Amino acid sequence: MTSVEQAIRLVNKYTKTTEKTTTIAVSASIGSVLAKDIVSPINMPPFRQSAMDGYALGSVEEKSFSLVGEVQAGDNTDPNIAKGEAIRIFTGAPVPSGAKAVVMQEKVIIDNNTVVLQEAASLDSNIRPEGEQIKKGEIALAKGTVITPAGIGYLATLGITHVEVYQKPSIAIIATGNELIPPGQSLQHGQIYESNSVMLSTALNASGFSNIEFYKVEDEYNATKTILEKALQEYDVVLISGGISVGDYDFAGKALRDIGVEEIFYKVKQKPGKPLFFAEKDNTTIFALPGNPASSLSCFYIYVIPALLKISGYAENSLPRSTAISDGTYIKKGERAEFLKATVKDQKVTILDGQASSMLRSFALANVIVYLPEEVTEVGPGDALQIINLP
Ligand code: AMP
Ligand code: MG
Repeated sequence: MTSVEQAIRLVNKYTKTTEKTTTIAVSASIGSVLAKDIVSPINMPPFRQSAMDGYALGSVEEKSFSLVGEVQAGDNTDPNIAKGEAIRIFTGAPVPSGAKAVVMQEKVIIDNNTVVLQEAASLDSNIRPEGEQIKKGEIALAKGTVITPAGIGYLATLGITHVEVYQKPSIAIIATGNELIPPGQSLQHGQIYESNSVMLSTALNASGFSNIEFYKVEDEYNATKTILEKALQEYDVVLISGGISVGDYDFAGKALRDIGVEEIFYKVKQKPGKPLFFAEKDNTTIFALPGNPASSLSCFYIYVIPALLKISGYAENSLPRSTAISDGTYIKKGERAEFLKATVKDQKVTILDGQASSMLRSFALANVIVYLPEEVTEVGPGDALQIINLP
């Protein structure tokens, strides 16, 4: 069986950043990764700009200046200003080319039409030079940068409307199981509601992946094989839910092998989520996730999200980890590593009740997953625990 650390390494090793790029509107680029350097088309600021509401001065040696005009933000003017003269100016307005400094209005006294300085002005003070932040032709943001709201604002300040980014993968979610029916219908004996598709797709959306198609397949070999063949042709990533365990009606593993998908690993020494399957074939990344909902979601956060981020161009692709102090006791049964649903508040971590792989209630309340490596056998109050922050 593959260890957790080894499985994480293998996912990272076999997933590659896509070669497909696409040009999209800056406004829709949140969470995407730049596939090319972005060169600034302008100087920013594009002109000498006042950083304050105050007075532009024609010289800095004098103490009093005669007021000769005004420039407002947005004005397309360049009034003359001579030694000993001042011009009323506002934040963001173009500084007259003859001006030597701007003084804040709080630092002057106005006496009739005379501006009297309270303290001496220094050359170029309160003036943002043209191109101070970035000059035309310089790299504004480099290839590999993840676009954030601030990044979108920054590109907008440069007048950029479109960016070339790595294409986010197309994803198929295939839910297997005769017992599954959609929420909203009434349950017959033996049936349960299908919850993994909506849960996984929502988690995908929350991490910026929206190109998702859903499939449902009965526990039947031919149907499973047919749908997997189609999915492998059409999608960048295939997520199978259920049917990957050892039961007589678990057909995902056999169907995958029969269509030539060789596992990179199958079965990880972890709880929950032991029967996890991972493969790569012809540029499609395949995860078969165990059907139990908590197993499915654990595997999703630990293995699937890093893979998807890597494909999308992220250099830093796993969920952030840190440590927190246990406020209770937990006894581990067995040798597998465990991922435990927990809450963290004020650096104290509480492992929640109801950790069974079939249960989602604890997951619904958790803000972190505690990772207990194989060698840990029990946890006591005060122990430092590794935690994985949920997005
Ligand atoms: P399997 O991995 O197919 O053996 O399923 C393990 C358990 O998870 C069984 O109790 C299934 O009924 C349940 N299960 C499988 N798929 C889903 C799903 N999509 N939604 C909710 N429960 C599921
Ligand atoms: Mg099943």
